[in-house]
Amino acid sequence: MELYPHLKKGMGYNFRMLIPIHEEMTREALTPHFSPRALDVIIAANKNQDALRNQIGHDEIHFDNNAIEAGNRYIKEQRGYLLASLLSPGVLSAWVAFGRLTHTAQDFYSHTNYIPLWMEKNPRLTAHAVDQLDRDLIASPKLHSGKLYFPLDLLYFIPPLRKFALALLPSDSHGRMNLDSPKQGERFEYARAAAIKRTQYEFDLLKNILTPEMFAKFCDL
Ligand SMILES: [Zn+2]
Repeated sequence: MELYPHLKKGMGYNFRMLIPIHEEMTREALTPHFSPRALDVIIAANKNQDALRNQIGHDEIHFDNNAIEAGNRYIKEQRGYLLASLLSPGVLSAWVAFGRLTHTAQDFYSHTNYIPLWMEKNPRLTAHAVDQLDRDLIASPKLHSGKLYFPLDLLYFIPPLRKFALALLPSDSHGRMNLDSPKQGERFEYARAAAIKRTQYEFDLLKNILTPEMFAKFCDL
């Protein structure tokens, strides 16, 4: 069975995790919790993180180049911005902040070695059982993310040159490490499951800290 037929046509190759996968994961995690208009804004902001201007010099947005702490800080900053936005009139900037935050949280699983480490620790467990926030692994000195080696990591995104780039890229490169697409096999399923759980976790966290009025405004249901 073809699981991702929509990836074949017209989507092209994105520099990072394929944009339709970010959308699909976000919808799966959040559809029951938001109005359609809120969800559209959240998804647009999530996808916009992979726009060209957010790709160069923004390791923290994608957990690239070992920017683990900076990535975690970025998520916290967006959460703070979201809370501040909900205290002022209007709700749009809170949805945008949540979209940005969820993109970065999702990239953690496709751009770091968290998933390979988790699979090594839990060799018998399926993707369904993945724990998205294993405290030991998150604090592990072994945790690292893919480095971007230019220009080889750019050639990786040009399909006919991918094989060539992969043969030359070091094992800690984004090209060799990323779990951005179903082509990466079994590990991709774990990364996807963890990213969906993390997106739900980020929503639950807000549900716990927002006042009922702020929460109702945020969900727009
Ligand atoms: Zn990204």
